[in-house]
Amino acid sequence: MKIGSFKLTAIEAGKMKLDGGAMFGSVPKALWEKQHPADQSNCIQLSCRILLIESNERLFLVDSGMGDKWNEKERRIFGIASDYPPLATALKRAGIAEETITDVIITHLHFDHAGGLTTKTPEGVVGPSFPNATHWLQKRNWDNALTPNSRERASYRRENIDALKNVDLRLLDGPQIIADGISVLVSDGHTQGMQLVQVADKGQSLTYCADLIPTASHVHGAYTMGYDIHAGLLIEEKAKLLEEVLQSKGFLFFEHDPIDAIGALKSEGGRIRFAGYVDDEGNLK
Ligand SMILES: [Zn+2]
Repeated sequence: MKIGSFKLTAIEAGKMKLDGGAMFGSVPKALWEKQHPADQSNCIQLSCRILLIESNERLFLVDSGMGDKWNEKERRIFGIASDYPPLATALKRAGIAEETITDVIITHLHFDHAGGLTTKTPEGVVGPSFPNATHWLQKRNWDNALTPNSRERASYRRENIDALKNVDLRLLDGPQIIADGISVLVSDGHTQGMQLVQVADKGQSLTYCADLIPTASHVHGAYTMGYDIHAGLLIEEKAKLLEEVLQSKGFLFFEHDPIDAIGALKSEGGRIRFAGYVDDEGNLK
């Protein structure tokens, strides 16, 4: 898809399964299970979808998926699909050599977003996957990841974090313009200091929603995840974003949606609703 002069490419960096109840918080199963069929363990299929943003001078990667540092038991627990290639291979298939990525924007350091930032050698040494890229993260998320609360401890794994001390890591304090047309917004409902990425050029825009709106189903104003640390705050942050995106006729990028990457909004009966997925031209499918 093109947003003004930017070329955007969604990349499937893997699939995982998480408990459907945890993904939909207080929403009854009867309301989500048709769209998200649960397996015998009540788990639903989710994507870990990342975004490449190409400008004339720079190549941005937003998030990095689960990565490959998982043992067999962990792969079973998180239902990590085994038929997905390592991130470097997925990028290569999209025509991108990983060393050409100049910037990595990290929404937050939960393992399903930050797992691919580092790789493990056969000898077990963990190092950065993009050693030459500038990495952008909110400082509050970095601090949170280093000293997580008990509820998030399992999501902030040190093997995804420590090696980032060896890269050019820019810790941001709030919303910021990263480059002309590329900026980050901050949201604290899911976890402390999560950032969303907005690409805007020539009257078009797209927002990479991360875990504020992980799937198209979560466009619904009252849907939050059991994982969210402040559900009430998240509902307010989401309402504000949806209003802005609706007004500007922008697109939303869904990192975990099992079906597709990019969608549009509509207003219906005074509420903001998911209008449908869109194709590369921005037309509803
Ligand atoms: Zn998360």
